[in-house]
Amino acid sequence: MKKITVLLSVLVLALGILAAGCGGGDKKEEKKPAAAPAVKEELIVGTEPSFAPFEFPEKDSKEFTGFDMDLIRAIAKEMGYKKCTIKNMGFDALIPAINAGNIDVSIAGFSITEERKKQVIFSQPYYKSGLAFVVRKDVNDVKKFEDLKGKTIAVQLGTTGALYGEKLKDKGSVVKTFNTSDLACMELKNKGADAVISDLPVLQYFLKNGGSEYAKLAGEPLTAEDYGIVISKKNPELAKGIDKALDALKKNGTYDKLYEKWFGSKPAK
Ligand code: GLN
Repeated sequence: MKKITVLLSVLVLALGILAAGCGGGDKKEEKKPAAAPAVKEELIVGTEPSFAPFEFPEKDSKEFTGFDMDLIRAIAKEMGYKKCTIKNMGFDALIPAINAGNIDVSIAGFSITEERKKQVIFSQPYYKSGLAFVVRKDVNDVKKFEDLKGKTIAVQLGTTGALYGEKLKDKGSVVKTFNTSDLACMELKNKGADAVISDLPVLQYFLKNGGSEYAKLAGEPLTAEDYGIVISKKNPELAKGIDKALDALKKNGTYDKLYEKWFGSKPAK
């Protein structure tokens, strides 16, 4: 008898737990689900972490840090993901990885371009950027982009900077392509290149953090480009969710806080 009572109470308890667990999802009951978004397990994010201050290795840690990293972690949290895993890959491998389903999204200072839009979905723009170039400090005859003719230019593979650099190829310039932005800058330091074409905020960060010893900005910014988060065309629902989360973070002040943390000022409206 005692056994039956114990069994019964366990059963009642189990049913109670089950009922509590399913309550939010029961469509027949017109109860609204709790305000918190549904729990999703893991958002897998790809990036190429040689792009400070957007994504770069955190000192004395295995983690990556930067504006993009903070932003995608905040987005994942806002969307109800339990875990946000960041994977390190080559920049030119990110779009193929998305389309192969190996990663869910990529945030990597990706400029929204018409060419890329043929292959993937971009979120709403989250950062205003653009290309610029630095030259070695001892290069004094380059005042504008056209002066780069005949010079050696270092760029990162698969980037808008690399595409822009190609314009110089028929002007007698040599364009050297590197897997990471750091390696392109290293080539300049080692005098293997006269100039690096990259994104202005990345070049500014590089100059501020040691680069100004051997490099300087030259000419005017070359382009205006918006960054977007990259999602597979097979996953428009995820793209919508990301945009919704970005809207929420822009509204609740999180986006501004992160922007100020990394760039020292509020974003231009
Ligand atoms: N914004 C540039 C692009 O989209 C560079 C990005 C990068 O090197 N991470 O091509």
